[in-house]
Amino acid sequence: NTFAEIDLGEALNLNIKRCKYVKPTPVQRHAIPISLGGRDLMACAQTGSGKTAAFCFPIISGIMTGQFGQRAPRMPRTACPLALILSPTRELSCQIHEEAKKFAYQTGVKVVVAYGGAPINHQLRELERGVDILVATPGRLVDLLERARVSLQMIKYLALDEADRMLDMGFEPQIRKIVQQMDMPPPGVRQTMLFSATFPKEIQRLASDFLANYIFLAV
Ligand code: AMP
Repeated sequence: NTFAEIDLGEALNLNIKRCKYVKPTPVQRHAIPISLGGRDLMACAQTGSGKTAAFCFPIISGIMTGQFGQRAPRMPRTACPLALILSPTRELSCQIHEEAKKFAYQTGVKVVVAYGGAPINHQLRELERGVDILVATPGRLVDLLERARVSLQMIKYLALDEADRMLDMGFEPQIRKIVQQMDMPPPGVRQTMLFSATFPKEIQRLASDFLANYIFLAV
């Protein structure tokens, strides 16, 4: 089992080699083909399982192949990302951002991170320079939406990382608000991946509210 066997395209395969990933981890082996096949996914996966690549590879591949049509026109004030990755903390968001940038190296796919507890101005400037994939914590994203500096109308991919931790931290109202904005008419095509270490009732409810006809994966 190799990455080359999964149809991720040349540029992404080159970056995977640069990262020295030889073999997909179990969550990658299963999640990536499911996602490339267009299905929604709920995955029970722990930290260290390689889940960052499991949701980043299909997103980058989908954006590069133009699977969901053209990329967003650049708007000077309102950023219109194609993909959103929600994560609970600044540390995790920054980690995802760093990894995603390596995976997207020389692909033309732009990754920007926005998190709370830090001045917003630098993040606003980055957003103004264009963004395909936005990695964000829920509170800061709600702030950006309220300032109309981000629009979720173009979102084709949503990944929720460590969903159980986001709920433990009390982010459910923010997450629901964010997803509601994506579901505003006209309804677009959206593919959703939900990652959680545990699968309690609250996560099952999120899955049934946010995912359509999803595949459940436990590794
Ligand atoms: P994650 O669970 O996404 O935080 O990944 C945990 C660590 O494993 C990170 O340092 C990744 O860079 C690394 N990693 C992820 N996938 C692979 C792979 N297929 N081969 C080798 N290392 C990997």
